[in-house]
Amino acid sequence: MTNYDAVVGTDRGAVRAVAVLTGAGISTDSGIPDFRGPQGIWTRNPAAEKLSTYQNYVSDPELRRRSWQNRLAHPAWTARPNAAHLALAGLAAGGAEIWVITQNIDGLHQKAGSPPDRVLELHGTMHRVVCVSCGDATAMADALARVRAGEDDPACAACGGILKSATVMFGQPLDRDVLGRAMDAAEACDLFLAVGSTLTVEPAASLCGLAVDHGARLVIVNRDPTPYDVLADATIREPIGEAIPALVAALLARSPVPASQSWHDGDRPPAGPHQSHGQ
Ligand SMILES: [Zn+2]
Repeated sequence: MTNYDAVVGTDRGAVRAVAVLTGAGISTDSGIPDFRGPQGIWTRNPAAEKLSTYQNYVSDPELRRRSWQNRLAHPAWTARPNAAHLALAGLAAGGAEIWVITQNIDGLHQKAGSPPDRVLELHGTMHRVVCVSCGDATAMADALARVRAGEDDPACAACGGILKSATVMFGQPLDRDVLGRAMDAAEACDLFLAVGSTLTVEPAASLCGLAVDHGARLVIVNRDPTPYDVLADATIREPIGEAIPALVAALLARSPVPASQSWHDGDRPPAGPHQSHGQ
C-alpha cells in the first residue's frame, strides 16, 4: 500500500506549486478509450490512426466524412469526469498554485471544475472546430448539428474552407503559446505529477525532465512503466481513480502556501481540507 504522504515529499516542506501532466489513462474510467493502450483504438485498428493525420484529412473528402461520423459518435460528448478529474479540480481549493497540462482533448478537467485558464491543452480540444484556411474557430456542437442535419462535410461559414476539430493531428505542430506556458509551469513547480500518460509522446513527456532539472519532485502514476520512471521520486501503479484522490488528500492535509507569500491582510486564509463549501 502506497504511503501517499511520503510520496508527496514530507522532507521538502509545503508544496507551493503543482504541475500535473495528464494523458489518456486518466479518462479511461470515464469511458473514453486509450488510443495507445492494449485496448486502444489505434492498437486494435491501425487504419484509425490514418484518420488523425492532417495531410490525409485535408486531401481526402471521404476520410473527412468518416471523421465527422466518428465525431458524432464520440463517447466524450456524454462522458462525465471521474474521481481523478474531480480530485485535481479540488486541489486548487487548497491554496497551492496548480496547472493542469493535458494531452487529452476531451475537456473533462474543465467539466470537473478545474479553472479553464489553468488547463493547458497540449493537443487542443474536440469541443471547438477550426477552419484550416482562415482559422475561424467555432463550437463543435454547431458543426455537429449541421452534420446531423445532413451536411456530411460541413464547410467554414466564413470562407468555405475545410473545418476540422481544434485538435492537434499527426503532422501538425503543437501550439507554441500553450507549450511555452506548459514549460513555464514545469519549471516553476515544486511537484510534477504525471498521470495516465505513457510519456512516449514528445515534447509533452520531456516536461518531466524539465521539471526535475528545475528542482521539482516527480511522481508518476501510470499502469505501466514509462521512460521517465528512472527520474521519478515515486512511481505508482495503483488505479488512477484511487491514487489521485489519495495523493490530493495528502497534499491538502499539509500546510499550504505560507500566508506571507500569497495572502494579504483582509483576505480569507486558504481553504483547508476540511472546510465545508457553501452555507
Ligand atoms: Zn474559413
